[in-house]
Amino acid sequence: MADTEYCRRTAVTGLSVSPTDATRLRELVSEWKRGCQLAVNEAWGVCHTRSEVQQLAYDELREHTDLSSQHAVLATHRAAEAIKRAGESGTKPEFTSPTVAFDTRTMTVFEDRTVSLTTTDDRVRCDLDLPADGGYQSRYLDGEEWEPAKSALRYRDGEFVFHLGFRTPKPAVDPPTEGATVLGVDLGVENLAVTSTARFFPAGELSHRREEFERVRESLEATGTRSASRTLRQAGYRTDQFVTHRLHEIANGIVEEATRYDCELVAFGKLAEVHDLLPEADPFHEWLFERLLSMVEYRAAARDIAVVEVNPEYTSQRCMECGFTHPQNRDVEAGHFECLKCEASANDDYNAAKNIAFRCVRRGPLSSRGLGAAACALQSGVVTPDDGFTPYAELSDPPLSD
Ligand SMILES: [Zn+2]
Repeated sequence: MADTEYCRRTAVTGLSVSPTDATRLRELVSEWKRGCQLAVNEAWGVCHTRSEVQQLAYDELREHTDLSSQHAVLATHRAAEAIKRAGESGTKPEFTSPTVAFDTRTMTVFEDRTVSLTTTDDRVRCDLDLPADGGYQSRYLDGEEWEPAKSALRYRDGEFVFHLGFRTPKPAVDPPTEGATVLGVDLGVENLAVTSTARFFPAGELSHRREEFERVRESLEATGTRSASRTLRQAGYRTDQFVTHRLHEIANGIVEEATRYDCELVAFGKLAEVHDLLPEADPFHEWLFERLLSMVEYRAAARDIAVVEVNPEYTSQRCMECGFTHPQNRDVEAGHFECLKCEASANDDYNAAKNIAFRCVRRGPLSSRGLGAAACALQSGVVTPDDGFTPYAELSDPPLSD
């Protein structure tokens, strides 16, 4: 099951740690930071996917740190995340945060409210320090449907805090078998997302905030004082919060749009392909796309809307009016689409979003689960392969009626 097909929750808990175990965990924290940094140093400017960074840096980590084999793997993955987040134009990440990742191979959660953790030495087993009434944490610890998942150990001010992750399969959305209306979404650099119904979500503020943060970082790093590094941490945190907040807004907007136009399906171009087709996107954008897609899936599931991926090839070159496909139909610099054959013109991302919806109708989603998309939702009507364009006013049961 793909990673995006789970709902995730985190239960935060203190840990009761004996002095000997505390020493082991502190040693782990320090080796972890070193391992992540080694992996970033190896991979920076070379590669950024998890598997690439793992391949490149794993042996180095095993040789030069005391991390267990699985923690070495996790550290290369953490490094890959950090490289993506920083993007190509950003500053090389520095690992100063005392936070170690755990997964089900490096931790075991027991029914007696204890957890056993892999360190650089023996495993340690310690009590979870839960509120007397069990707290909200017991809902996940006791809930049959929740299983332990990716977690994190933080060490701050002499205390260990465990962010115990849980996951459960997402409620399956019964896919429509026929006659569904699909909303197409094009992902891009100028506009982070554009829907086939002509709703635009510009990336402007996101790129702007990140550039601003990089400028602040440069000047603070030049200062090099303790208070400068604290200010830097705070600025980084605020930037992350801003980006997350904006992604939530965009995800909400896309799902609202699907609801407004009575769509049972939302189609995206397959992300792996999007990366190849968008030479102007850097790893930061990949990171934004992945987060956005999983936020949309999560919200859409709550409204019984299925999210699918289609092959995005040529969706930016094809004319939605006449079907003529040519690279020169599109002026990437100007963000403009004008068909060489029928002279129809539009914003290029909007044209691509319509094509993504249409591809879902014509060929179905990539991981075909028997979804039956019959019509694309556009701003003023629907398009079907057989009947062409029908304005909403002529439908027996039009959306947007309120
Ligand atoms: Zn045309």
